[in-house]
Amino acid sequence: MKKSILLFAMIVVGALLSACSQGATAPKEKSEKLQVVTTYSIVYDIVKNVGGDLVDVHSLAPIGSDPHQYDPLPEDVVLTTDADVVFYNGLNLEEGNAWFTKLMETAGKSGDDAPVFRVSENVKPMLLNSKEHKGEEDPHAWLDVRNGIAYVENVRKSLKKIDPDNADRYDENADAYITELEILHKEIVDKMHKIPEERRILVTSEGAFKYFSDAYDFRAAYIWEINSHHEGTPEQLTNIISTINEEKVQALFLESSVDPRSMEMVSRETNVPIKGEIFTDSLGKLGSEGDTYITMLKWNADMIYNGLIE
Ligand SMILES: [Zn+2]
Repeated sequence: MKKSILLFAMIVVGALLSACSQGATAPKEKSEKLQVVTTYSIVYDIVKNVGGDLVDVHSLAPIGSDPHQYDPLPEDVVLTTDADVVFYNGLNLEEGNAWFTKLMETAGKSGDDAPVFRVSENVKPMLLNSKEHKGEEDPHAWLDVRNGIAYVENVRKSLKKIDPDNADRYDENADAYITELEILHKEIVDKMHKIPEERRILVTSEGAFKYFSDAYDFRAAYIWEINSHHEGTPEQLTNIISTINEEKVQALFLESSVDPRSMEMVSRETNVPIKGEIFTDSLGKLGSEGDTYITMLKWNADMIYNGLIE
């Protein structure tokens, strides 16, 4: 009796071991879906909207992190190597494209015919002004919804090129999404114009709102111009504090993907409150308000409106 229990146990253990080792060595079943890698979460969401259930999308810089300076993980290298398509913002976002260029080389996707696409193709770049970045392209084009629509068109074109059999479905998804974005753009225009013109000044840590300001008739002020910095220098802090005092700014805003300490210091020094957290370089955490491109822009418009109208 005891012997047969022992024998049974050995068989079970043996079967489990062999199942485990098979699991570890058996080739992974290739998914039917198109494997897509994007450099950050906003393009991730745009690709999900155009690709629908035809795509599996991985964002390199995770939600909440800063895509200007990302350090790819070993897992990112594997996913990028295996990807059917890669999308990046360009316009100097991916640290002047340095981390991105390096990753594409490591992943064997640096050739001219590699399936790597810049979503900001055909967007008219705005340029940085500060002395150390003068003349460089400003990446934050997506904060003007009309540029977001250009991103959608580029994603549509690229997905159809890589997967022509499903062209109709990409068209259908992209058309529906663009309709929503056109409505959103109009809503933001209307809402922002309800703020009296003299109050339409947006103060943030990073100067990410050039395209936004151009589209929605704002003036933008900031501590540092682009996120190669993470805190303001004494000179930058002095400059923003005097702008806030001269312009009689009523409200400051803090971006979800930057270190809050510099803006908190500016708020203490000027006695002007931080009226809310807004999204620039990342979506909100999944499940929160602002976890899609559309809802993050709605959230921003509401925060800005409420902060400046009081
Ligand atoms: Zn940024």
